[in-house]
Amino acid sequence: MCLDNSPDRDDAGVLVDNAAKEGARPSPSLIEDLVNANHILFDQGVVDAFGHVSVRHDSRPDRFLLARNMAPGRVTADDIVEFALDGEAVNANGRRVYLERFIHGEIYRRRPDVLAVVHSHSHSIVPLSVSKTMRLRALFHMAGFIGQEAPVFEIREVGGDCTDLLISNNALGQALAEKFDTSDIVLMRGHGSTVVAPTLKQAVYRAIYSEINARYQLEATRLGDVVYLTEEEGRTAAQNVEAQVHRPWDLWVEQAQARRSKT
Ligand code: MN
Repeated sequence: MCLDNSPDRDDAGVLVDNAAKEGARPSPSLIEDLVNANHILFDQGVVDAFGHVSVRHDSRPDRFLLARNMAPGRVTADDIVEFALDGEAVNANGRRVYLERFIHGEIYRRRPDVLAVVHSHSHSIVPLSVSKTMRLRALFHMAGFIGQEAPVFEIREVGGDCTDLLISNNALGQALAEKFDTSDIVLMRGHGSTVVAPTLKQAVYRAIYSEINARYQLEATRLGDVVYLTEEEGRTAAQNVEAQVHRPWDLWVEQAQARRSKT
């Protein structure tokens, strides 16, 4: 006689559960910071039409956020796409995504402490990615995180000698991610570099100052022998200087916005 409506309740319960799980949206301030990170990296000359920055989702550690396939200087909040760690887009809705998204996913998978990743082809880093004798090395206090010798990823060791040098699948991403076991910056031979950090602002800071360190290193070594930071100096400087990352961040945001409003 009575209609059993328990299945409906079950269904409703499932819907609620799914909504709670799927409804974990990244916070608007995280999206805003990621948009600003894109603009800063362009304004500071770390990325041009190429290169990208991502941040780990703030309520789902198994997801990350990255712009759709476009020039970083033009990114808006509507261009941010959510990804699973295997590089599958969750909400691309037909938008093209970056070929090298596997860099980000595989690093987040291997390094749970990493909350942000910057990949670029910044100009002074590339020469050091191809040198057979010189490695990128911390030479001033603003870039202490680089340490004694930034590792270089040689794609030929995993992909052979006919690749386009791009990290365009999970296997290449995993091989690159392994290099981050001992460093927060890895140079990629004939390509560029990738930098990681425990916050988005630090990742942007590190990408900017590793480019500057590379430029200084190219200049200083032309003068003769160079005194580099000791391992301990690098660690102490990184700890103390990066604690003040908000100061340059606020300035960089303002500069990037001023430049955008002129164009
Ligand atoms: Mn690249």
